[in-house]
Formats: sequence, C-alpha cells, structure tokens
Amino acid sequence: MTASAEDRARDLRTRLESVQRRIAEATEKAGREQAPQLIVVSKFFPASDVQILHEFGMTDFGENKDQEAAAKSAELSDLNLRWHFIGQLQSNKAKSVVRYASMVHSVDRASIVNALGKAMAREIAAAEEAGEPARPDLEVLIQVDFGEEFSPDHDATPASSGAQRGGVVPQEIAALAAAISETQHLTLRGLMTVAPLGAEPGKVFDRLREELDGLNRLYPDASIMSAGMSHDLEAAIESGATHLRIGSDVLGPRPAVR
Ligand SMILES: *Cc1c(COP(=O)(O)O)cnc(C)c1O
Repeated sequence: MTASAEDRARDLRTRLESVQRRIAEATEKAGREQAPQLIVVSKFFPASDVQILHEFGMTDFGENKDQEAAAKSAELSDLNLRWHFIGQLQSNKAKSVVRYASMVHSVDRASIVNALGKAMAREIAAAEEAGEPARPDLEVLIQVDFGEEFSPDHDATPASSGAQRGGVVPQEIAALAAAISETQHLTLRGLMTVAPLGAEPGKVFDRLREELDGLNRLYPDASIMSAGMSHDLEAAIESGATHLRIGSDVLGPRPAVR
C-alpha cells in the first residue's frame, strides 16, 4: 500500500471502530441482545474505500445512484458483498439495479414494483438460458415518509420535506405491500424511513416500528426495520431498527448533500 492508502485505511478503521462502539453501547442501553446490521453507505466514495472496509469485515454497502452503484459493484465483483439500493429509483433503472442489488430499500410506488418484478423475471430467464443458477428473490422494503405527521409545514417547504426524499404516507403501506407480495421474484422484507428534517428521530422511528409490527403480522418475512443514519443511529436502535445506514461517520464528510 502507498503511504496515502495506509493513511486512508487507518482513518477508516478509526471511524468504523467509533461507529461500532456507538452501536454496541446503544444496543446494550436498549436492552437488545443483537446489534443491528450495519450497512455502510459508500455513495460518493471510491471502490478502494469499500475494499478496505471489506477487509475490516464489512459486507453490506449502500448506494443511492444506479450509475455509481453499478460501476462500484462491477469493480468489486470478486468480493462477496451485499449491495443495498437506498436512493430514489426510476423505473428505467430497475433492469440495472437488479443485477447487483440484494435489497432495495426505497420502493414507494406500484410502477417501481412492476419494473423490478419484470427486471427480475428477465434476469432469471437469462440465467436459466445460460445454464447459470438463478439469483434469489430481490428483497424489497417500502420507504415510508412521515413528513406529514411530523412537519406541519410539510407542503410549504418542499425542499426540506419528505416529498423530495420519496416514500409513501403510512396509509399507503398496505396497498403497496399487497402489490409487492403479488409480484413474483420480489420478497417484501420490511420498511425503511429517513427521519424528516426537524422531527425528533426517536418519535419517527417509533412510528416506523409500529407500522412494521402491523405489517409483519400479515407478512412473516417483513421483519426488517431500516432506520438510523450517522446522526440518529442511537434513536433508531432504541426504537428497534434492524438495519442501520451509515455513511459520513464511517467514511468522512461528503463534498455535498446528494
Ligand atoms: C446518504 C444516506 C444515508 C447515510 O447518511 P449519513 O448521514 O451519511 O450517515 C442513509 N440513508 C439514505 C437514504 C441516504 O441517502
């Protein structure tokens, strides 16, 4: 390794260990036996960082742009990684996303469900034709937007609202869940949220937990609660998050908000 690569590895190790310590402490404080799964959000950072973090035992990585994710996952295809797609998804990207993603956290409309289902069917047919083993079902989460419940000025300030981040209002979860469960090659695994700006994360995450518990009674596989970012991971663990999506506190500050 070059000197700068060694510096970067040392930097990443320090940051990762600090995040792991926070997770362990919050897990204990919440009286939970098992720590949530850490997904390192590698958006904006190079494949070389992912490789270093993989050497430190990280297996799950999150990306929010198809182009960047497709390139990074291709570059690292010899590593045994699980890629999580966590960004706003356009139907025309579904074909690409299903090639590398194990899980899509950001499903928020029927047209995306349909596009992912079709893309998966195509992938599986192609594998069959080539005599390759079929990939497992795509795991999907419904992204929920609690903006209306937690930001009274939701409509007045679209720039800071959940509308920009995507997600369905809680009343729409049931219909989307039904659409997913009726779609071949997709498995509904649970719910995801990003706490709206200005809202108390713990209260938002408690609402997500409540919605998930209801959903999970109807769909036994839907047990994943994807919540918690760098600044609110403790609140997410307290509310029962099973998967954390941590970017900047592991990798360092990003040049700009994306
Ligand atoms: C970028 C991003 C994260 C990670 O955020 P950090 O604050 O850097 O930890 C988590 N979830 C989503 C949906 C993101 O886009």
